[in-house]
Amino acid sequence: MPKERIYKGIPASQGISIGEAYLYTKKQIIINTASITEEDVPREIEEFKKAIELSQKELRKIYNIAIERIGEKNSKIFEAQLEILNDKIFIEKIIKRISEEKRSASYIFDDEINNLGSILLSSENDYIRERFEDINDVRNRVVRNMSREKLISKITENSIIVAHELTPGDTILFSRRKAQGYITDTGGINSHAAIISRALNIPAVVGVKIISQDVKPKEILIVDGSEGVVIANPNKDTLERYEEKLRKFREQEEKLYGLIGLPSITLDGKTIDLAVNINLEDEMNFVKNCKECGIGLFRTEHMFIEQGEFPSEGEQIEEYSYIAEATYPKTVTIRTYDIGGDKLLPSSEKEPNPYLGWRGIRLCLDRIEIFKEQLRAILKSSKLKNIKIMLPMVSSLEEVRCSKKIFEEVKTELDNDPQYKDIYDKNIPFGIMIEVPSAVILADELAKEVDFFSIGTNDLIQYILAVDRGNVLVADLYQEFHPAVIRTLKNVVDAAHKNNIKVSICGEMASKPLAAIVLIGLGLDELSVLPSVYTEIKQIIRSCSHTDTKNLINSILNYSTEEEIRNAVKNFYEVEIKPYIN
Ligand code: PEP
Ligand code: MG
Repeated sequence: MPKERIYKGIPASQGISIGEAYLYTKKQIIINTASITEEDVPREIEEFKKAIELSQKELRKIYNIAIERIGEKNSKIFEAQLEILNDKIFIEKIIKRISEEKRSASYIFDDEINNLGSILLSSENDYIRERFEDINDVRNRVVRNMSREKLISKITENSIIVAHELTPGDTILFSRRKAQGYITDTGGINSHAAIISRALNIPAVVGVKIISQDVKPKEILIVDGSEGVVIANPNKDTLERYEEKLRKFREQEEKLYGLIGLPSITLDGKTIDLAVNINLEDEMNFVKNCKECGIGLFRTEHMFIEQGEFPSEGEQIEEYSYIAEATYPKTVTIRTYDIGGDKLLPSSEKEPNPYLGWRGIRLCLDRIEIFKEQLRAILKSSKLKNIKIMLPMVSSLEEVRCSKKIFEEVKTELDNDPQYKDIYDKNIPFGIMIEVPSAVILADELAKEVDFFSIGTNDLIQYILAVDRGNVLVADLYQEFHPAVIRTLKNVVDAAHKNNIKVSICGEMASKPLAAIVLIGLGLDELSVLPSVYTEIKQIIRSCSHTDTKNLINSILNYSTEEEIRNAVKNFYEVEIKPYIN
């Protein structure tokens, strides 16, 4: 009896699937490197043109299916692939080279694609490097069509696809055959196949190295896309454990799904606004399906991380308008670029302490044109009056005053622009993130300058406790229930309320059920959480009494250790909340 085997990869799309493996192997494409004769040239060019036409037809079909399944925005990759084949100059260049160099069309096409690819591969940016796979896919499609090989996309329905690599096209086409999971040797979290799996809600684990050589066809597999684990040929105990996990996962999902539409209100009637954090456009599906939640944090960095450069004003307007429309009538808090820390531009200088370096608002105030362009794009997208603006990494009053001055200048420019002067939101709320200790100490003064606060505990905790948020060696010291953290949060909430402004939290602390109890007791007006835990946190809000959580806070503010606070919150959960969760 073959033994159970466990593989670890990158969790690319969450959820669990259990099923039979379908090994998807593509025949290696063969590039004809031999020279051709003068007489062969017209036929070679003709064949090449036909292959281009056929590839365009295939890609158009995939593009249409993709639009239907994952929406226009998520399908852009296919549009980009089509653009390569529609590029007349590119195609003409290849035709010219075939007749001049007397080499096969596949050889010249491969060479030209390699030229394009080497530019991408030399990028320091992971996202850009992963785009190499997308043009590789175009190469394979065209070369395959030149040798008239058919793509085999008829996989067994309901299976788990195991492949060395999957193209975005494969991922879409297989989903029509009810693929239950995707596992690949290659790929990263930002590969398009990973992005598309998330948009399709199909569990996926990528980067599992040589799994496609190990797994046998029809072998039973477990894909745990949340943990990044694949188990082949699971033994009876493992299978039972995962079947139970899957059953619970589905039960929980169904039960929690029932909470959508119900108010986010405590047992004693206090409304706590619940919103979500959005990092990537493909996460917008949650907002669109849920129809009731706003966006408490829209990180804009992904736009330059994806492109390796700042997006144009037009591209930004397109993105912000889409997000605002999709979220309307709820609000979207757009955060201006938070570059620096672990989110670097490919061209950024290496800094010895990037988290203490040229980050967030500091960079924007040094690059005023980029900052102005972003503010202008946000304002131009604000006609529905449901956008708020938020600055990251604020550490002084001067930064806020200076940003407001720049903001006013941009508004004045728009007041003189006939196209926008009457449609942009003149009263757009302007807020800041509280994520640096100096901003906490100045919270009272800062609150007088802005319309709202949003606490970024991911950074605030690292700066209060001097613990790098990404360093596994000190991960144990990164403590949300540290008394210094709880007391700090209390000061921020009190300063905001004393000055009659609202205070939200968008750090991941709000996405953890036990921590959410503390935040409710502290008086936060809004929790902005990961989409995947939105309903779970709503359940916590609906199962607790605000008065009781306030009493809990009054006692834990007297504790001096993390352990005492953690135990008190755990105990509160067991006694006061769990009984109300049915
Ligand atoms: C935070 O610091 O809590 C936050 C939400 O911002 P980011 O994680 O993007 O730094
Ligand atoms: Mg932050």
